[in-house]
Parts: sequence; structure tokens; C-alpha cells
Amino acid sequence: MSFCYINGFYKNNIDAQISVEDRGFNFSDGVYEVMGFRNGKLLNFDKHMYRLCKSLINLQISKPFSNPNSYKIIIYHLLKLNDVNDGFLYLQITRGTAKRNHLFPSNIKPNIVIFTFSKGSLDKIKRGVNVGLTKDQRWMRCDIKSISLLANVLDKQKGHERGFFEVWQIRKNLITEGTTSNAFIVNKKSHIYTHPKNNFILGGVTRDCVVEIALKNGLKVIEKAFNINDIKNCNEAFLTSTTLGIVPVTKIDNIIINKKAIGLITKTLMKKLEDFLNKQIHE
Ligand code: PMP
Repeated sequence: MSFCYINGFYKNNIDAQISVEDRGFNFSDGVYEVMGFRNGKLLNFDKHMYRLCKSLINLQISKPFSNPNSYKIIIYHLLKLNDVNDGFLYLQITRGTAKRNHLFPSNIKPNIVIFTFSKGSLDKIKRGVNVGLTKDQRWMRCDIKSISLLANVLDKQKGHERGFFEVWQIRKNLITEGTTSNAFIVNKKSHIYTHPKNNFILGGVTRDCVVEIALKNGLKVIEKAFNINDIKNCNEAFLTSTTLGIVPVTKIDNIIINKKAIGLITKTLMKKLEDFLNKQIHE
């Protein structure tokens, strides 16, 4: 039995109820976060809270709590109820419940739901995955972590049906990001390239950690979008997300990367990210 938090109550997942007039349900009018926890400790909590607040402000959704510590108290209680120490949580805030109308009432109360989940073994994918390429069909505010994910869902599914683990999206000949992850390549000079943080990508928390770790370790990071030609000439490629960490990319479309071996920089960053996350357990 798994418990979730829903609007002030802890309920069995199957007993939790939301109105049919929830604006998330009707309009995808809401935001979310996925956060990891290890040894019962939340990882990158402040970074996730910062992004959540930004998403809420951008959509003019009111904050359910003024103090981020309220989330912490709720989440730690939920981990205890679910008797889980390692895994992930999904946190969703929608604008609230109101008679269906595109215009939203000014004093509407947000609906908040938090549940925990676990991931299967990542051993196989950590040896390298293949990535497809597709046109970026999304709107111009990909920086908002909105629950409206239809373009991502459809392209991920299409990629899966073609045998790809992930799909990198292309806007104006430039790779923006994956459907559920950020995209990186390493060029022949060992410079790491990833799309700059702007409205065309979701600024991933793991992306930020990787950039920070790479710089701290004397690696050169260039936050500039790359194209297919750069992929053809790259030495290494990888993707990042909260649920996957760093995953080596060994094939992009029909381009084989580094003879399908995990590159040295990718390997180093994978190890350093693990250290970075594990250090938070003891903070
Ligand atoms: N881009 C997109 C489109 C995503 O859905 C995700 C995962 N939610 C990411 C990037 C990675 O973000 P994070 O590292 O914060 O999980």
C-alpha cells in the first residue's frame, strides 16, 4: 500500500480523489517536480524548490505554502509512511478547482499532490543508450515545468517504437534537449557543450549539477546549442535527468559515438555526480 499527500491529507493512492473540475485535469494548468531521495535524505531540495517557485510564478499559480520547509515536513512524513529511503517523488501543483472556463478566478486555491515511486535497475542503460532525432514540436516556454507534456509524450513514444531509448529534439537545426532529459556532447578538444538555459529547454537540476561539477573539476563547459554536424564530430555524448543521473549516449540516429564505448569525461562526470549526490546524504 502506498500513501500520497493530497491537499492536507495523507491517503492511500487508490483512495486519493481530485475534482473532475481540477484545472490540471481539464487544461494541464499546473506544474510539477520530480525529486530524488537517498538514505531517507532529499537530494537537491533547494534547486528543485527554486525551479518550482519559478514555474508557479510564471503561470501565476499561488504557492500552497509560503515556506519551503512545509514541503520538507510533508515529504519526510510521507517517506516514513511509505517506509522508503531510496527513490523518487512526484509533486504536482495545479491552479485549483473551478467551473471549467479558460479564464481563471483570481482567488482560486491550488491543488497539491505528492507521491513516491521507485525506478528499476539502471545497470543496462548506464552502459550506453541510443538516441533518435526529431523536430521540436513544443511551445516557446519549455523552461516552465508544466504538466502539459503531450509533445514530449508523443515523441518519446514514437522514438520508443523505433527502438530509441530517448529522442533529442531539434529546433532551427539546433538540438534543444531530450523529451525527458537534457542533452550534452563533448567535442574533440574535450569541451562540453549543452544548450543554454533559456525558454527552449527545461533547465534540468541534474544539468546544473553536472555543469557545476564539470567546472569545479577544471573542465570547459560551453552553454551553446550544438547541431548534427557537431554530433558527427563529437567524442562523447550523454544525457541527464533526476531519475537517470548521467547516461552515456553511444549512438545518435545512425551516428556511432566513440565506437560505442563510454568516454573518459562522461565516466568521470558519472562518478563525480554520484559523489556529489552521496555527499548530500550526510549534510
Ligand atoms: N528536460 C525535460 C524535457 C525533462 O522532462 C526533464 C526531466 N523532468 C529534464 C530535462 C531533466 O531535468 P531534471 O534534471 O531536473 O530531472
